[in-house]
Amino acid sequence: MTGHTLDCLKCPSLCCRMAGYVEVTRADIRRLAKFLGLTVPEFERRHIVERTRKGAKRIKSGYDTCQFLGEDRMCTVYAGRPKDCRGYFCWDQADTTVHEFARFFQTAPGALRAEEAKDR
Ligand code: SF4
Ligand code: SF4
Repeated sequence: MTGHTLDCLKCPSLCCRMAGYVEVTRADIRRLAKFLGLTVPEFERRHIVERTRKGAKRIKSGYDTCQFLGEDRMCTVYAGRPKDCRGYFCWDQADTTVHEFARFFQTAPGALRAEEAKDR
């Protein structure tokens, strides 16, 4: 796949904005709380934005930009970020929507047209 050539540093961090919800495990919560200097209950009160009926906890709901995305488009809790974020690459997902957007943002219009012409 061509996606591995994408450069996350040149991306508007579309994964943190549009790639659905981010669930946190108990270990994620402990790590994030420690990173932010909070207790676990404090962290949960301030930063859990959604709970599922099965009791899963989320720091980002499906349609919102993650609360931890900084204005410089970098993750403000990078060293403590959840496991889901560590393993996420937009070019390696069954749903290709985010990857298509990221590719569009990072490809100059001329190069994009040339690529599309090749596909025809
Ligand atoms: S959307 Fe893709 S290219 Fe952009 S930051 Fe996320 S993983 Fe990297
Ligand atoms: S925790 Fe960081 S890496 Fe994960 S979605 Fe939020 S801003 Fe992005």
